[in-house]
Amino acid sequence: MDYYQILGVSKDSSQADIKKAYRKLSKEWHPDKHKGDKKAEDKYKQINRAYECLSNSGKKQAYDQFGSEDGPQFGGGGGGNPFGGGFQGGGFGDIFETFFGGGRGGGGTRQSDMQGRDVEARINISLEDAYSGDKKGIRMKKHVQCESCSGSGAKKGSSKKNCHECNGTGQVTRTVQSFFGAISQSMMCEVCRGAGKVPESPCGKCSGEGRVVDVEEIIVDIPTGINDGQTLRVPGKGEVGRQGASSGDLYVRISVSPDKRFIREGDDLRVEKIVSVADAVLGKEEDIETFSGKVTVKIPPGTQPGQILRMKGKGMPILNTSRFGDLFVIISIEVPKKINRKERGMWEALRKS
Ligand SMILES: [Zn+2]
Ligand SMILES: [Zn+2]
Repeated sequence: MDYYQILGVSKDSSQADIKKAYRKLSKEWHPDKHKGDKKAEDKYKQINRAYECLSNSGKKQAYDQFGSEDGPQFGGGGGGNPFGGGFQGGGFGDIFETFFGGGRGGGGTRQSDMQGRDVEARINISLEDAYSGDKKGIRMKKHVQCESCSGSGAKKGSSKKNCHECNGTGQVTRTVQSFFGAISQSMMCEVCRGAGKVPESPCGKCSGEGRVVDVEEIIVDIPTGINDGQTLRVPGKGEVGRQGASSGDLYVRISVSPDKRFIREGDDLRVEKIVSVADAVLGKEEDIETFSGKVTVKIPPGTQPGQILRMKGKGMPILNTSRFGDLFVIISIEVPKKINRKERGMWEALRKS
């Protein structure tokens, strides 16, 4: 919900313009003109809420800065002293920190404390997993949907009613003493946590929360070509929201373990191939095991130690494409340490030649 959009004004509109826009809209959407129209009633509430914020320079500033309609929401979400520590003690630094603490969490324009939080996890995979892509299960302890009430928080067969504390608006107005003087502050209702509705008869298993803490196994799709340190977002797999509100997301940080044979360089792979002196001199076709099976590499006659042979398209899959990097084969030449009498004769003959 964007307050500027609701009033049809821009961020740099003057207070006079905001007032004008509000007067026009509030007349247009006044409940007397739209009797029994629930949508119009909501619209009217929104217009009033938007004006309440944008007509107050302090609130408007916080809204502009933090992009949250609950911008100046003192203290963290959920229980405790709603005024946090900010306004009692320290200076501006403290206040801004507290603003951040209250405004973030759900990301952006949080209307209530109902939505589930985002959660983070880590998965360790092998280079081969990163090559072929995979499904990995992770077990996480978090808020999951209550099965008893299917997440509604209401006992089977019962419904929800307007919250008595806020009369269904989800907001309460408090007067806060600050060194700016007494300010009237619209805050999230602590009883319904901003939802406006509460279960008539709460579900016994989850105490009306609609969610319980349990271990959930989540299957994460690992895309082919993922890199070490990348983060995957799994929408809706974070904590389940209260009473059926939307869930948070799961962010999975991927660690790719180093491989024994292959060294990864971006989308390319490097591998060492040991060949005999004779094979280096005369040339040979050799098989190399890769993640996609055996490939044949042609070692040309006269191959030098450290020479690099490039095999196009035999490297790692490139993330989000159907292309592949290259495989670089680095040649090492093995010089025999022990030779028998017959071999000695042959090497000596070679030396003389
Ligand atoms: Zn329940
Ligand atoms: Zn309430």
